[in-house]
Amino acid sequence: MPDTLAAEAPETPGVIARTECRSCGRGELAVFLSLGDMPLPDALVQPEQVAAPEPRYPLDVAFCPNCSLVQILQDVSPEQLFVDNYLYFSSFSTGLLRHSAEHAGALIAERGLGSDSLVVEVASNDGYLLRNFLEAGVPVLGIDPAPQQAAAAAALGVPTLTEFFDADLARRLRSEGKRADVIVANNVMAHTPTLNSFVEGVQILLADDGIATIENTYVKDLVDGCEFDTIYHEHFCYFSCTAVDALARRHGLYLNGVEHFPSLQGGTLRWRLGTRAAQSRSVSEYLEAERLSGLTGVEYYREFGSRVKWIRTELRELLASLRADGKSIAAYGAAAKGSTLVNFVGIGPETVDYVVDRNVHKHGLLMPGTLLPIRDPSVLLETMPDFLLLLAWNYKDEIAEQQAEYLRRGGRFIVPVPRPEIL
Ligand SMILES: [Zn+2]
Repeated sequence: MPDTLAAEAPETPGVIARTECRSCGRGELAVFLSLGDMPLPDALVQPEQVAAPEPRYPLDVAFCPNCSLVQILQDVSPEQLFVDNYLYFSSFSTGLLRHSAEHAGALIAERGLGSDSLVVEVASNDGYLLRNFLEAGVPVLGIDPAPQQAAAAAALGVPTLTEFFDADLARRLRSEGKRADVIVANNVMAHTPTLNSFVEGVQILLADDGIATIENTYVKDLVDGCEFDTIYHEHFCYFSCTAVDALARRHGLYLNGVEHFPSLQGGTLRWRLGTRAAQSRSVSEYLEAERLSGLTGVEYYREFGSRVKWIRTELRELLASLRADGKSIAAYGAAAKGSTLVNFVGIGPETVDYVVDRNVHKHGLLMPGTLLPIRDPSVLLETMPDFLLLLAWNYKDEIAEQQAEYLRRGGRFIVPVPRPEIL
């Protein structure tokens, strides 16, 4: 596929198509992957709505040659993406709970947090992280626009503002006398269409000697692991250290530390930002490694685009040959990434009987686009499908533990990326 420039992206109703970089504002974005017209990944379908047409939006991924930020070109309104349809509750993942408790404990010890401190979390979800600070007597403030999740957090005693975080909200909080010793923002910086306002807000709200820790999937892990299914309309940006460093500096913040969690969400980085420059060796090492491995040039991403198309072909052939042999197939994980995968590859009810998910709020609904029914995982042992396609491949080990009995009875897992294979 020849690269196209963002300026040539077609107009679609209900979508703003970007022609300028979300970070540095320059044009000349190079598109290296087009995933086609996709439904919103969390817009699960009610059974009575099956006949109604679903809105679909183009999904093009581009690289900024100026600041190295990888980003999608299309903006669907955040209200539509995160409020109406959002059913993700962080506390359903035991691995994430463990990771969060460790992070909170380390911050409390390292920063000497106590009853006169303030920890603010952006995208605090159901209070999965802040509860740890609360239990240690550290005052907290959660910010999350999703009402169901905010209500769940409030039930735990975590005060939560049901709003989107940006520079305006940060100014308001600061005018009320609030300054944060620690700001935590996990898996949210990629979710904001107004990236610059978000980072400006962090700078405004942070106390003079405060730190912000920001976690997001690492674009290098995404590309190297061919995790194209983490690309969807909720994720506007895909960050490298090079891109974060440039973004932070433009807002008077410094990238002072980097930590890597290879098994978290398919590969996550934790960036540590401060109002003063105190760069650890890890930062310079990451920046140098990114330059050497090509992350700062578009060729690296073009090659990724080719591999994504190869996976689609291979997975289609694998599933078709299993069905031709009379095998039954179910899938695991009705999350957004699963929606990208089944819609891009084209996996519908003719191939997969149903999808299971532990989130009880999703049971009885259907996946957007391909309309696969979502059921409770207990149905696996009742129906014993021959194969289980792991759409939530990032939780492979956790699923293997949960589904030990399914595996013991002869069920097999299919992992779709980085290359489709039967385990
Ligand atoms: Zn840029």
